Amino acid sequence: MNFKDLRGQEGLRRALTGKLKAGAVSHAVLFCGPPGSGKKSWGLALARALLCSGRDGAEPCEDCPSCRRFRSGGATNLFHLQPQGRRLGIDQVRRIRGQFYLEGGNRVCLIEEAGQMTAEACASLLKILEEPPRGLYFILLADRPQQLPATILSRCQRFTLQPLSSAAILDLLIKKEGLSPERAQLISRLSKGLPGLALELAASETFEEEMTRAAEIALKLAQKGCSSREILALAGDLAGREDLLFFLELLYFVCRDGLLFLVCGSESLLINPKEARRWAGVVFPVGLEEAMALLQGTIQELEATNVNRRLALEGMLLQLQRRFSLCQG
Ligand SMILES: [Zn+2]
Repeated sequence: MNFKDLRGQEGLRRALTGKLKAGAVSHAVLFCGPPGSGKKSWGLALARALLCSGRDGAEPCEDCPSCRRFRSGGATNLFHLQPQGRRLGIDQVRRIRGQFYLEGGNRVCLIEEAGQMTAEACASLLKILEEPPRGLYFILLADRPQQLPATILSRCQRFTLQPLSSAAILDLLIKKEGLSPERAQLISRLSKGLPGLALELAASETFEEEMTRAAEIALKLAQKGCSSREILALAGDLAGREDLLFFLELLYFVCRDGLLFLVCGSESLLINPKEARRWAGVVFPVGLEEAMALLQGTIQELEATNVNRRLALEGMLLQLQRRFSLCQG
C-alpha cells in the first residue's frame, strides 16, 4: 500500500508527505483513530516510504530491494509489535531491541495497539526515544492519544485519521470492491466513514442474513408478537453475540429506514416494497422514533459502561414492544 492507493485524509496526507519530502519525519510517529479508520494502512505506507532506498519525494520507488520485498509480502527492516493477549509487554520489546541498533539503512518498528503497552514497555520505549539511534523510526497506532503516557506523546509527531466522506466509501466499495450501488449505499451508511469496517462488512458472508434477522425482530416486536418468555430468550441470544453493538445498529437502521418509508415513501435494501406491505398498518412513525431513541440509548450505555448486557437488552426489548403497542392505541 502506497500513499497514492489510500483514500481521503487530505490534511494528514499533505502533512505527512510534506515531512517525508523535507526529511523531517520524527523518530516516533503516532497515528490515532478508531478501529477500522485506516491507521495500519497509513502506518505501513509510511514504513514503506521510510525503508525505500531509492525514494525521491514521498512515494516509494517500487524498484529498490526494500520495495520489492514489500511487494512480495516481507520487509527486512520492519519490526512488528502487537499485544499478546491484552497487553504488550517489556519482553516483546526486549526480544527485538538489539536489532534497533544495527548499522546501515533505515529501520522501522510498527507498534499496533500501542495503548496496550505496559508501563515497563513504555519506559523501555521512552529510553530508546531519548537517544534514538540514527535511522530508527517508531510508528505507533492507537485508538486515542490519551491511551499513551504524556512522556511518549510529547516525543511523537501525531496524525489523526478522520472519518471518510460517504462518497469516498462508496467509491471504495463500488470501484475497488465491485459492489452493487444499492449494497454499497447501505454499507457506507453502516460504516460511519471507517474504510476498514466498510471492507469487513463487504466481505461478510452473513451480512444479508443479519439484515433480514434484524428486520424480522423489529417487525415481530411491532406486531406485539413476542411473549415475555421469547423476549427473555432473545435478550439471552443477543447478549452472547460478539458483534452485539453492530447488530443493534442494524436494528436501528431498520427502524430508521422504516420511518423514512412511512413518512416519505423511500425504499431501501432493508425496507423494500415486499417488506413494506408487512409493515404498513402495524408500525407507526412515533413508535419507530421511540424505538430509535431506545436503541441509541442502549448502544451508548453498552459502549460506555460495564452494564450487564443481558439485563440491559431485556429491558430494552420489553420497552420496545410496549412502546410499539402504545402507539397502536
Ligand atoms: Zn524503493
